[in-house]
Amino acid sequence: MNYKRFILLSDYQTNCYLLWDEKSGESLLIDPADQSKEIKDFIEVKKLNLKYIVNTHGHGDHIGGNRYFKELYPEAKIAIHSEDANFLLEPRLNLSQYFEVQIVSPSAELILEDGMEIQLGDQAIKVIHTPGHTKGGISLYTAPYLFSGDTLFAESVGRTDFPGGSFTTLSDSIKNKLFTLPEETEVFPGHGDFSTISEEKKFNPYVGEV
Ligand SMILES: [Zn+2]
Ligand SMILES: [Zn+2]
Repeated sequence: MNYKRFILLSDYQTNCYLLWDEKSGESLLIDPADQSKEIKDFIEVKKLNLKYIVNTHGHGDHIGGNRYFKELYPEAKIAIHSEDANFLLEPRLNLSQYFEVQIVSPSAELILEDGMEIQLGDQAIKVIHTPGHTKGGISLYTAPYLFSGDTLFAESVGRTDFPGGSFTTLSDSIKNKLFTLPEETEVFPGHGDFSTISEEKKFNPYVGEV
């Protein structure tokens, strides 16, 4: 699997990732936080076929570009976990109610659940339900890469003080579902620097040393 990171929204520095399968040209966009000509140009230069727009969870700083990309690529399906699907349509839930422009995304067309696989060509991306930051938070795994949304950051974890958040749940998700992945797994979070599972097990002050 190929990937490229784009950093969107100067206030939030959201990591948005474009994944693609070289052979088929099929691609998937994770967390388009905003409209982005840079991403659009990249998709066009590489002649990729954007099949999915996947939100790791429903917060405004991860879904703000859904509408822009859906309008550009109507065939691409918006995908999100069932527990966060209504965030797409509700500024109160996606926390954009106090943004300058409230975010209302087109609705979900593919509801994700734990263990589902999304195919790009003959490569699979596995959905891992990792609640805690929100109830419907997911991580996406395609060895050796893990896209961890706002669940796990380099030496940090997502906030749990928003509606639906729970530190106990978040910590269980990380320990039971992410720290069981191979040590060398590369972690690509929703904000900030990259890491690996082994680094996080050793150095993450919130959930390390397990
Ligand atoms: Zn969030
Ligand atoms: Zn975020």
